[in-house]
Parts: sequence; structure tokens; C-alpha cells
Amino acid sequence: MRFSEIIEQQQLKDHVQHALRTGRVSHAMLFSGDEGMGKKMFARTFAQAILCENRQDAGGMIEPCGECHSCVMAMAGTHPDLRELVHEKATYGVDEIRSQLVSDIELKPMHGDYRIYIIPEADGMNPASQNALLKTLEEPPAYAVIMLLAERPQALLQTILSRTVELPLRPVHDEAIERFLMEKQRVPDYRAHECAAFAAGNVGRAIRFCGDDSFRNMVDGTASLLGEMDRLTTADIMERIGRILFPDAEQETGKEKKKKGLKEAGSRELGRFLDLLLMLNRDAMVYKATGESGRLVFAAQEAYDRKAAQRSWEALYKNIARIEQARERLAANVNTDMTMELLLLGMKNEV
Ligand SMILES: [Zn+2]
Repeated sequence: MRFSEIIEQQQLKDHVQHALRTGRVSHAMLFSGDEGMGKKMFARTFAQAILCENRQDAGGMIEPCGECHSCVMAMAGTHPDLRELVHEKATYGVDEIRSQLVSDIELKPMHGDYRIYIIPEADGMNPASQNALLKTLEEPPAYAVIMLLAERPQALLQTILSRTVELPLRPVHDEAIERFLMEKQRVPDYRAHECAAFAAGNVGRAIRFCGDDSFRNMVDGTASLLGEMDRLTTADIMERIGRILFPDAEQETGKEKKKKGLKEAGSRELGRFLDLLLMLNRDAMVYKATGESGRLVFAAQEAYDRKAAQRSWEALYKNIARIEQARERLAANVNTDMTMELLLLGMKNEV
């Protein structure tokens, strides 16, 4: 990977470019951002550039050459001075931090001037593991570079945070994601548009949505549920939501096929479903106002929009409030099935 291939993230690029130019690389950095934002990709590119024996200045941007011995090893994951930590369980054990980092870092670099450690899911270190790391962060060897990656930096101890430079990955503009999906992933324009809109600035998520039938099915299923809601019973509606949230349930057999509570879908999935309801409702409003599909996020769902646009403005506005209210209830741990039932019935009865 080259920095020029990374979409936006100018602030981070400026930081690492400055470090590469001046040779002043921080001992400890914290790349923060949601899953899919590109933390690991950025850290790996930076690490490769630090270790590269033949860095290139390509149009004002320092890039790893991609061809030297060091780059080849870094890309293959076999560079002896670049290590990515792993953990066996959900969190890092103290021993894992000690053996993979604290004692390992005593070894001098084998090839160049640096020894680099990438810690994925660093927010998965419990306080004991963080304390084990802390001593190294307090007095790192001159050649040491430690890159922590975290979705929730707030889960790290203040003592750790105060010794790291935080480099937050920012949401990318929809248009940039759309262009990337069309040009690099050969996604058709209408799909690139909806995946980018739904990914909320997260490139990894957008790529996954586009390559993934389950997202397509979720959009189709939700639009048809909303379109046909008026003639469905409560039980039908709940069954449809179950099918949207558990697309693989059809293949499950025997014991597995017990009735699932919607809560089992997980908060991320439920949040996504609510996002989708919100965007479809927004599309209905745009369609009602303009009468055309050109500015819709989900242009392929025009049949639903035509129908939903017959509802009153008041009904469509009330839906927004209902969806946000459901989100609050779920966050407050109110019963998931009941919350979703109330939401969809409310949307159904609003005309
Ligand atoms: Zn190189």
C-alpha cells in the first residue's frame, strides 16, 4: 500500500510525512477509529515506509518503494523488526503483552534503525495488560516505535493515553468513497451511491456492503416490508424483521432453529436496521417533494418511495421521531422485540 492510495485522511498523512522527512518518529502512536476506517492499513503503510531502504518522493509524498528487501519482508509479514501482536482470547493477557512486546523490544533491530510493534485492538487490553505495557512506554528504547490501534480509545488508561500521540482516522466524504468504489472496485454507480451513503464515511464498511449480498437483501427486505406494511399483521411484521436481521436462519436446522429474540441480532446490526429505516423514510420525503428518483439514496426502491410518498408530511416527520425514540430505548436496554414492534406498528398506523 502507498499513502497516495489511501483515501483522504490528510491530517494523518501530514503527520507521518513530517515524521518521515525529519526522521523524528514518535515512540508511541494511537490510531483511533471504527472498524473499517483503515487503522491497520495506515499503520502498516507507515511501518513499511519507516523500514524501507529506498524511500521515494513521489509528487511531494514520501512513499515506501515496495521493492527493497525490507519492503518485501514487510508486505509478506516476515520482517523481523516489524511485529503485529496477537491475542488468543477476547482480550490480551499480561503474558501476551510481556512476551510479544515488553521482552521482545529489548532485542536490537536486525536491519535498520527501528523496531516496530503494531497492537491491533489495543482497547482489548485489560488494565493489568496496559500496566505491563506502560513501563515500556515510559522508557522506550531509542529504536522502538509502538502503534496502538483502537476503536474505543476511552477504554485505555489515562497513563497510556498521555504517552501516545493520538492519530484519529476521520470519516471520508461520500463522493470520495463513491468514486473509489466505481473506479477501483468496479461497482455500478447506483450501488456505489447507496453503499457510500450507508457506510457513513467508513471505506471498509462501504467495500463490505458492496461486496455483500446480505446488505442488498437487507435493503430489499426493509423496503418491501415498509411498502407492504399496511396489509401485514403484527406477527407478519415481526417475522419479516426476523428474516431481515437473521438472513441465515433459513439454513439452520433442529435445535438451532428456535425462535430468536431480536436482541440476538446485536446492537450494531439493530443500529444499522434503524439507519436503514431512517434513510428509506428520508428518501420517501425527497420523492414526495421532488417526484423524481434522481436524488434518492436507494434509487432502486422507487416502488416503495412512490407508495410512501402518499403519506402525509406529518406522518413522515413523525416516523423520524419514532426511529430516534427506538434508538434511545435500545440504548437504555428496553426490551428489543417490544421496541421494534412499537416502532413498526407506529409507522404502519401513521398515514
Ligand atoms: Zn522499500
